[in-house]
Amino acid sequence: MSLLDLIFPKRCVVCGRFGSYLCEKDEKKVTSAKSFCPMCLKPAIGGTTHPKCKGKLSLDGLICLFDYSTPIKEIIHELKYRFVKDLQEVARVQLKKSKRLDNFDLSSFTLIPIPLSSSRKNWRGFNQTEILGKLVAQKLKVPFAPDILVRTKNTKPQVKLARRERIRQAKGAFQVVDQKKTMEKNFLVFDDVWTTGATLKEATAVLKRKRAARVWGLALASSH
Ligand SMILES: [Zn+2]
Ligand SMILES: [Zn+2]
Repeated sequence: MSLLDLIFPKRCVVCGRFGSYLCEKDEKKVTSAKSFCPMCLKPAIGGTTHPKCKGKLSLDGLICLFDYSTPIKEIIHELKYRFVKDLQEVARVQLKKSKRLDNFDLSSFTLIPIPLSSSRKNWRGFNQTEILGKLVAQKLKVPFAPDILVRTKNTKPQVKLARRERIRQAKGAFQVVDQKKTMEKNFLVFDDVWTTGATLKEATAVLKRKRAARVWGLALASSH
């Protein structure tokens, strides 16, 4: 045990029990997300967008790894407001255990994390979506590209907004830096949580306007 552990003992993010950031009992509650079509939200095999739901600029599919419920919900929340290296480790372990990505061949894809506005990034000092996205890219062994998409609008945290507000706010929020990097390429756009999908859909439309070939959404958790 290190000195730091004595001063700040590890406690389970769910029940507060001492010893680790996620106790055995709460770890058992991790639930895989179901596959659904990102456009109509009805069940879809592998998360592939139904052909009838697909538009020119829409997501080609969506993979959500976990249910946005205990303990994943608490882990994501803690990561957002408290920068703890060990919590990243908890997330990494859960990713490693997840079978959700096993049947996908994503080798031709590049992962892009949803960027934060520069003001919010400066305030918090880090972009947790970027940190988590990097872990997922490592798990998938795909390239990680945090510089292709930039945020052009400062936006409020999504949790505070109603559905219609979220969709309105997402419009025009992103820009592609260099079209040469998107042309004919396949992308996974990554966000922590899929709620209305407004953010991932807007990012996808921006990439497809810049001639991206296929774009799938990837979220750590789904609250749908
Ligand atoms: Zn616990
Ligand atoms: Zn559909």
